[in-house]
Amino acid sequence: MSPQQRNLIGQVYRCPVCGAELSVIRSALGALAPRCCNTAMLLLPERHATYVCPVCGSELMVIREGAGPLTPRCCNTPMVRRRQAA
Ligand SMILES: [Zn+2]
Ligand SMILES: [Zn+2]
Repeated sequence: MSPQQRNLIGQVYRCPVCGAELSVIRSALGALAPRCCNTAMLLLPERHATYVCPVCGSELMVIREGAGPLTPRCCNTPMVRRRQAA
């Protein structure tokens, strides 16, 4: 029971047994407690960044950052990087 923590979009959880990873794509107020291999998954310090299209509202999530400048476009418009303060 930890009602203080709101889950956040882009948060990453990893299973310490098999290495499975998942990421939050819609945040809400629930006490998120993902499990895998009969074990509680660990919340990692990293967050996946997301991009949103200011025109249509499409959203992307960065699964793995590369070296290059990431400049996704949608509706002929640059998408806006969104990373809420933790
Ligand atoms: Zn697992
Ligand atoms: Zn769009």
